[in-house]
Amino acid sequence: MDTGQIFLKGQPLPSEWFSGNAFLTPLVARDKNNEFSAGSVSFEPKARTNWHTHPKGQVLIVMEGNGFYQEKDKPAQRIKKGDVIIIPENTEHWHGATAVNKMVHIAITNYKDDVQVTWLEPVTDEEYESVNI
Ligand code: MN
Repeated sequence: MDTGQIFLKGQPLPSEWFSGNAFLTPLVARDKNNEFSAGSVSFEPKARTNWHTHPKGQVLIVMEGNGFYQEKDKPAQRIKKGDVIIIPENTEHWHGATAVNKMVHIAITNYKDDVQVTWLEPVTDEEYESVNI
């Protein structure tokens, strides 16, 4: 059966850093030429990352569904299949699905030294519900 899905859903991501059901399929590992890794991240409805930062930024390419991208102290942006989001370095943000849609994005995440991400606190239900209006 062709579900239209390009990459496998992958393995569950840890509840320490993600709320709800999110999954990762690694696509590109960091190597001597590529100072980034890339993976396909699938968020079921209501799933989202914690707040976090990337020391050299990140690029998201939305492959499927509908979700949100929000930087701290800014309005959330609705994101959908085909959108490309360029996240600056050291910018606190989260990304995830809407309450009623799944969302799949490719995440391309640069390294600075050996660090790709600094995880912060969860996006609370109150914060999440305030963008799902
Ligand atoms: Mn991010």
